[in-house]
Amino acid sequence: MNLKCVRCGRTLDASISAVRCACGGLLEVRHDLGELDADELRRLWTGRRASLAPEDRSGVWRFRELVAPPGEMVTRGEGNTGLYPVPELAGWAGVGELFLKHEGENPTGSFKDRGMTVGVSAAKRVGARVVACASTGNTSASLASYAAISGLACVVLVPAGKVSGAKLSQATAYGARTLLVRGNFDAALSLLQSMADELELYVLNSVNPWRLEGQKTVMLEVLEMLGWRAPDWVVLPGGNLGNTAAFGKALEEARDLGLIERLPRMAVVQAEGAAPFVRAFESGWTDLRPVLPETVATAIRIGNPVNYPKARDVLRALDGVAVAVSDREILEAKALVDRSGVGCEPASAASLAGLKKLRERGVISEGSRVVCVLTGHILKDPDATTWYHSGCFEHSNQPVEVEASEQAIRTVMGRL
Ligand SMILES: *Cc1c(COP(=O)(O)O)cnc(C)c1O
Ligand SMILES: [Zn+2]
Repeated sequence: MNLKCVRCGRTLDASISAVRCACGGLLEVRHDLGELDADELRRLWTGRRASLAPEDRSGVWRFRELVAPPGEMVTRGEGNTGLYPVPELAGWAGVGELFLKHEGENPTGSFKDRGMTVGVSAAKRVGARVVACASTGNTSASLASYAAISGLACVVLVPAGKVSGAKLSQATAYGARTLLVRGNFDAALSLLQSMADELELYVLNSVNPWRLEGQKTVMLEVLEMLGWRAPDWVVLPGGNLGNTAAFGKALEEARDLGLIERLPRMAVVQAEGAAPFVRAFESGWTDLRPVLPETVATAIRIGNPVNYPKARDVLRALDGVAVAVSDREILEAKALVDRSGVGCEPASAASLAGLKKLRERGVISEGSRVVCVLTGHILKDPDATTWYHSGCFEHSNQPVEVEASEQAIRTVMGRL
């Protein structure tokens, strides 16, 4: 196992503490796939679900052969999230079969935990004292929790006024030093990266290659649950594009190992007000032009995605597409995911909204078997949910206040 720079190609030892190459490029973890046998891996990974050992129960570390060197593992039993078949939503979107992979079921309520268990374990391995991130909310909640259980100090930088109260409350409650930066996420991340050396901070944004190794396991679980038959499409929201990079890497490795026969296609969905990746895709992969981001889906309110080079290569390799959806489409899709009983935060629902749009445009065909990834829990942004249901949208479901009397309740029930 070693690290390779995706810009200059240099190979580096896996034990280094730098999270980027000296040339400024992104690093990528490389595994020795040659020694691994597909049948043996399938048996080993699924078999570990019956074990009581923490490293086997974790839905990240049970795939450790494709993740990181074992050693001290800072784990909360993350992963092993549900894959829900939703025939009604498949009908609504117009596809043959649809599954929702619900990453909101992780310990702190988002997929970020899959990355943090590996990233914070790496921080321990390299002897870091303070871990840090810039965040649209979920990264800070996750890092704060994993830092607390590992005994590391933690600093988080979040855009002031642009993070849901639920997420901010997690970061502060788990004990992170929380800085509300008067600027957007991109400004906060750029500040953090330029000051990390001076302040001796170990950066755990998705520029950190170890985090992406943990996030790969979302795809390994999906493939495992589908009997190692790839779906036709994987659809996910894109912000900083860490998942896009990680999921693509997982799928390509799975194909190279013979775990699956063919690759699925991938669709990355961004909010219209924060869609630099979609613009780059539509213009034939010219350089990424950063934008000033704005969207109700604050988790993907990012204008200068740091994983752009990796994500672009993934879309090329997987014959993928990128599509933008409006805030209104996101909120309507969220209402349907919520109503199905599964539920998610706004950014997550971009996946379903994007699926619908790509189906309407004929990019995704009728009989397709599709997996939409839900990135965060429904309770991550209660204000957005409450706002929608107190309004007059298609699926609004307003609560009714009544007098505490049988007659009042009878009157209301009669109108159901
Ligand atoms: C972080 C996050 C995203 C964005 O993921 P990227 O890997 O940065 O593209 C999407 N949804 C939720 C809920 C998130 O927390
Ligand atoms: Zn380099």
